[in-house]
This record gives sequence, structure tokens and C-alpha cells, in this order.
Amino acid sequence: MSARHVILDADFGDGSHFCATWAAWPDDGRALHYLAIAPQAPAAARIASAQLRGLWPPLVPGFHRILLDEGRVTLDLMIGAPDTVLPQIEARVDAFHLPASTRLSARALARLAVQGASLLAQAPSEDYVWELTRAGFVCKAVADSDDIRAVYTSRQPQAATPALVDRRAIVIGAGMAGAAACERLCAHGWEVTLIERHAQPAQEASGNLAGIFMPLLSKDDNIPTRLSRAAFLFALRQWRRLGGVGAAFSGARCGVLQLARDAAHAQVQQDVIATWNYPTDYARWLAAADAGALLGRATPHGGWLFEQGGWIHPASLCAAMLAACGARLQRIFSAEALTLERVDEQWQVRAAGGALIAQAPTVVLANGTGARALAQAAELPLSALRGQVTHLAEGSVPSLPLVVCREAYVTPAVDGIVSAGATYDNDDEPLLRAASQHENLARLAEILEGVDVADAPLAGRVGFRCAAPDRLPLAGALPDHANAGRLERLRDVPRHPGLHGLLGYASRGLIWAPLMAELLVSQLEGAPPPLEAALVAALDPGRFLLKQRRRAQ
Ligand SMILES: Cc1cc2nc3c(=O)[nH]c(=O)nc-3n(C[C@H](O)[C@H](O)[C@H](O)COP(=O)(O)OP(=O)(O)OC[C@H]3O[C@@H](n4cnc5c(N)ncnc54)[C@H](O)[C@@H]3O)c2cc1C
Repeated sequence: MSARHVILDADFGDGSHFCATWAAWPDDGRALHYLAIAPQAPAAARIASAQLRGLWPPLVPGFHRILLDEGRVTLDLMIGAPDTVLPQIEARVDAFHLPASTRLSARALARLAVQGASLLAQAPSEDYVWELTRAGFVCKAVADSDDIRAVYTSRQPQAATPALVDRRAIVIGAGMAGAAACERLCAHGWEVTLIERHAQPAQEASGNLAGIFMPLLSKDDNIPTRLSRAAFLFALRQWRRLGGVGAAFSGARCGVLQLARDAAHAQVQQDVIATWNYPTDYARWLAAADAGALLGRATPHGGWLFEQGGWIHPASLCAAMLAACGARLQRIFSAEALTLERVDEQWQVRAAGGALIAQAPTVVLANGTGARALAQAAELPLSALRGQVTHLAEGSVPSLPLVVCREAYVTPAVDGIVSAGATYDNDDEPLLRAASQHENLARLAEILEGVDVADAPLAGRVGFRCAAPDRLPLAGALPDHANAGRLERLRDVPRHPGLHGLLGYASRGLIWAPLMAELLVSQLEGAPPPLEAALVAALDPGRFLLKQRRRAQ
């Protein structure tokens, strides 16, 4: 997609302005990107369009990216108070829509406006017209109405957004991170070469039989919680667009029950729900009796129910994402990328012995723990966290209608196998070991009291999670450590041109993959990011270098 028109609507209201703009949007190749602040978003039932209603998020705070009409139209529904939302928007806005009774800071609007941006303010006060004028909006009254139309005319020269011309990228790694990157890039018209050292996708961390998906909750709605909420909900929408969990790929949205560890934790869980008052289909508290009824067996403390959570077979999801790429994707498998070299504005990716595998202006490292072996990523503080999942034969444990977790998880049977796990180990033993299995089974006995499968045969799978010290993903341009001088802010961090990372998905690759890929593509395209600026900063691969330098300075 070449051109994009960005509209900022100060109040989504009942969505009528968005729906009218969408309906009238010409099919001329231009993408519509509609940013809508929604202090009070309408419930799904009040949305007229079936397409939009099907993708409507539960009304929880944060940015919700909704892709419509095959991605031709993007709606960012930004739920929250306008004063807190506005500073979190990073976008180059072409048109502002200010319904009556909205009054966003004119200086904050000017920060986002492109030269010549248009603005319609419905029935603004005289004061506000002055404020807009002082901020650089040249205002004119609309005949026979109380409305004002304005054009943003900056006195300061504006940095031109560099036009991106060469949409060719190499993605290294065909796990969840790489497959999602390919899907998003190809959807935006990129030609992608995917390099993978195995003959098939999803052979390493993404090779488990079943991974679970659910968001995090916390009392203070901290950054990991906010990120996991945005990622979980975006993943649900993306999976629906791909054809649906359990339809286009193997899995089930059967729900996840996160049991409280003890009475004190049960109280914390209840307090969190009471504080945030989530829609019940997002998260709710189940007292012990209700949790027990759902599980089909007694459980002492109750827990959180995530109705829309569940499990997915990651390899089948990777296959579905790669299939969605169509002819724009070229797969080079059984090829290991060992070196990267920037030559004439292209990255040359080479195998052992120096053979050229592929070259392109943009490279995305989505190769998990393998990234540490590449010189340009060697200084990122990534570690490999061993995890062992235990496989139990169906019937050896009570059958479960949903995923249940506490300090570990247990899935319903998938193709005759129940997965229980997983361990967190700091060694690099690739083979199954009895001690890890005992740990998993001890935790299983805590989740399902009275279940004893201690003598189950040693079975399962070992994988290595790629984890950063803060356990958050790295999504964005990779820092150039060698050329870093004094650093005050993230934007001071020098970057390797055209080199990006989608790394560090740790224990939550399923939910991170779609949103991180969307964020990266937004950055490459110069489009508004799908997340608040503070959350984008929390994912910036340059954050560790900045922290290190700040400590040293
Ligand atoms: C035991 C265990 C249980 C887990 N449970 C869950 C869960 O329940 N829910 C959940 O969401 N997540 C879970 N995770 C985490 C999840 O599996 C990961 O976050 C996710 O798979 C990471 O995907 P990735 O694409 O980043 O990495 P990977 O799947 O490891 O993919 C990286 C790919 O890059 C390739 N590669 C590496 N280096 C090179 C190179 N130089 N050249 C070419 N190719 C290269 C590798 O072969 C691999 O295919 C679990 C992980 C483990 C280990």
C-alpha cells in the first residue's frame, strides 16, 4: 500500500463519523488510518457493521488496532481519557475531527499535524479557536454553522517523512515471531525472504504441541499487564482474520482458569477484579465453588477465568501465517544465517563458508536464542531459558474442559496427549530429564489435587525460551553498540540501518507475535504504531543500552 491518510477523531462517540468515512473511502489504493479517542466506546451490540462488530474488543483501556477490509482500513480505538491518550499518540495526522464539546490541547494537536493538515471543529468556543490559531491552525468559520475549518500552517520547517521505496525484507527464523513478521510484511506488500536453519518451520521454541494464551492482570495495571492485554486482544482479532482458532489452525478458545495459589492470593485476585472491573468475558473472578464446578472437581481457593483464552498448536499457527503470505514469500529453509554485512545499503546474509543466502535492504531477526550468535545482536542481553513440558497420555489424568494453570499449566488432551509444564531452568540440557518431569508433576498435583501420576513414563519436549532481563519482547530497530556515545533518551541510541529485531518472546510467544509484528511493520512503513508511546518504548531493543549508559554516565 503506498499512500495513507491519517485521521484523528477526538471522540469516537457512537462511531457514526468513522463509519461514514469508512463507507465513503475510495477504492483507489490509499489506506485509511483512523485514530479514534474513545473515552466511552460503545458496546459491540451497538456497532452497525457486522465486520467491525466481529472484531470489536472488550471495552478495556488501551489502544486496540482493528484491521478492516483486508487491512485497507485501520481503526485504532484508543480507550481512555483524552488527556492521557493524546500524549501517547505518535502519528503524522492529515485530518482532525473535533466533535462538539471535545477540547484537546491545540499544541498537542499541532505536534501531530502534517503541514497542511485539515481540521474540523464542531461548535468550538471562541477561546478554543484562539488556542488553535496560536498553535498554527488557520481557522475559518463554516458558512451557516457554528463550526470551524482550519488548515495547519507551521512556521517551523517540518522534517519530511522519508518515502520508503524498497519493500524487500529478509526474515531470519521461522518460529512464531518470524511467521507473524512474514504475514504482516506480505500483507503490506513487501517481498519477503524467510531464512530458517531447519527444513520445517516451528522446530525450536515454537515446536510445542500446545501453548496457552491469556493476558496478565495486576493491581497497578503495570506495563507488562497493559502490553499483554493489547497483545492478547490483537492476537484474538488476527487469529479470527486468519480463519479462526481451531479452524484455520489447531487450537481451542476453551478458556483458561488461573487458580489462586492460596487464600492470600485469592484475595489479591479478587481485589484486582474489583479494582479494574473488567468486562466478564475478558476476566472474572470465580469463587472456589464455581471454579470447582467448571473444573469438575473441588479446588480450594477459586481463581481468574479468562473465557477467551485457550491453547494453540504453534506449528499449525505458523503454517497458517506463512500460507497467508502467498506468492510474496520466498522460503529458504535448511539454511543457517551466520553473518550479516551491510554493503551498498543492503544486508548480505551469509551461511558457513561465506555463501550468500540472500540480500535485502531490511533484515528482521526473528531467530530467538539463535540471534545471540550474530555479531550485530551479540550484545543484546538475551538468555536461553530451558523449559521442559511433560506429555501425559489422555486418560491418565482427569479430562479438563479448559486450560488450568497456577505456577504451571495443564491443557485439555490434544490428539490424545495432555501437556503439563513447563519448567524454567538455567542450563542448556537439550534432552528430557526426570528431575524436570518430577517438577512438572508435582505442580500438576497442586493444580489438580489428589491426582498422582508420579510414575508416568518420561515423555515431553525441551525448548529454549529467548528472554530479556525484563521478560518483555524486543521489537524494533536494533541498537548499534559500537557507535553509541553519550545517551540521554531512546532516540539518541544509534541503530544499525535496516536491521530490526522481533526477539525475547520468553513464555508468551503466542500473544506477542502478532502485535510485535504489527508494531514493526508500522515502524517500517512510518505508520502510527498500534500501541501507546510508553509501551512502544518499553519494547525498544535499545532500552538496555540506554539503561547501561545512563548508569555509567
Ligand atoms: C517449554 C516451553 C513452554 C512454553 N509454553 C508457552 C505457552 O504456553 N504459551 C506461549 O505463548 N508461549 C510458550 N512458550 C514460549 C514460546 O514457545 C516462545 O515464546 C515462542 O515459541 C518464541 O518464538 P520465536 O519465533 O521467537 O522463537 P523460535 O520458535 O525458537 O524460532 C526461532 C527460529 O529461528 C531459527 N534460527 C535461529 N537461528 C537461526 C539462524 N542463524 N539462521 C536461520 N534460522 C535460525 C530457529 O531454527 C527457529 O526456527 C513456551 C516455551 C517453552 C520452551
